Parts: sequence; C-alpha cells; structure tokens
Amino acid sequence: MKVVNNNVYIYSSDIYSYMFCPRQIFMKLKYGPIRTPAMANGSAMHKFIEHKATEGEIPSHISKLKEAVNISNSIDAVIQSVERYYMQYEVMPNVFLIGKPDYIGAYRGNVIITERKPYRDRLLTGELMQVASYALLAHAETGLDYNKITCYIDKYDRETGEIIKREHVIITEKLIDELLLIINDIVHHLKNNSMPDKGTMCEYCPYKEMCD
Ligand code: SF4
Repeated sequence: MKVVNNNVYIYSSDIYSYMFCPRQIFMKLKYGPIRTPAMANGSAMHKFIEHKATEGEIPSHISKLKEAVNISNSIDAVIQSVERYYMQYEVMPNVFLIGKPDYIGAYRGNVIITERKPYRDRLLTGELMQVASYALLAHAETGLDYNKITCYIDKYDRETGEIIKREHVIITEKLIDELLLIINDIVHHLKNNSMPDKGTMCEYCPYKEMCD
C-alpha cells in the first residue's frame, strides 16, 4: 500500500496480509516497506507501480483482457493467456486497488484467474480475499458478471513446486461486499491515523521490533 499525491494504492497482496494482521498494513504505510525474502517476489511489480505513481502517472494499459474475452467467445477456445498482467480500479474516490494474478486468461467468454499458494490443508481467508480482489478488478475491466469470472487457487508443494490441489473459489456479491468493507477499514485507519488491532503471524513480521 502507498499514498501518493493523496491517492491511496492498495495491492491485492495487502488484502492477503490484512487478514493476518490489519496493523501490519498500517505499519507498512507508516514506516515504509520492509521486505523479507518471502516478500521479495511481488516487489518488482510494486516498485514499478510505485515509481509511476510517485511521478503522478497512474499506471495504465490497453485492456487485453477484454479483447481476449471477446475473441474467446467467438472461437470457443482458450486463445490468450496474459502473463504479468496487472489491473487497477478506483474502488472509491482516490483509492485504487491494484492486482496481478499468477495467471489470467479467457475461455469461452469467461475470465479464468489462477493464483498459486503453498499447500495447506485449508483455504485461508486471506487467500480467498486476495482472489476476490482479482475478481473485482476483472469485473471492473471487462464488465462480466461474477459468475463468468472463474477463480482457482492452485496449492503447490513447497519442496517440489508440484500442484497438489486445486481449489475453486466461487465469487459471490457477498464476498465482494466483504472485500469492500476491508478496503473501507484500511482507508478509515489511514485517514484517521488510528492504529488497527494486532493480528497473528508475529513471528515472521518485519515490523515486530516496532510493534508494542
Ligand atoms: S508484530 Fe504482530 S501485531 Fe505487530 S504488526 Fe506484526 S503481525 Fe501485526
């Protein structure tokens, strides 16, 4: 998450982290990002967007996704996968949600989104909300109903990288409403400079030393 020229940029990965600890997202904003090796993966995309945002240039792109959906409808096949494709949407005035799923493509007029996560025996709320944020972005970009946005979470083995299980996440209006409440909460704390509640996973938190 970053604030530039009164614009707030919230990444889909922030939504994931928020479900473990709302305070961590606040600390990230207050003290700046502290990257652990595990957080390094998404940093290149974040840096690029932050650079553009700092220059007052909101990242923009041609909507390849909408194009892909339209073409896939007519030829009834997988026609395009969009690698390293980030989406953004102004969810409320001056608040931008930005996300880049691991895979996004089109099939028979539907959008297909897949996110990879390390295997656990259950689906985490943070994983669910992160994928919901991608669905919201794809909906905003293509205008498709949520029942035409199919989302998967591929759980992989940490040692081998092999996909062990595929979870199908059903995107409902209720889930999207919950996501919007989370975004509202983040913005509320930010604007009021109020420290959110403590969360979990403190052992791995880069802000551990600063959190009393
Ligand atoms: S140390 Fe724990 S409570 Fe504090 S920000 Fe990190 S995860 Fe949250």
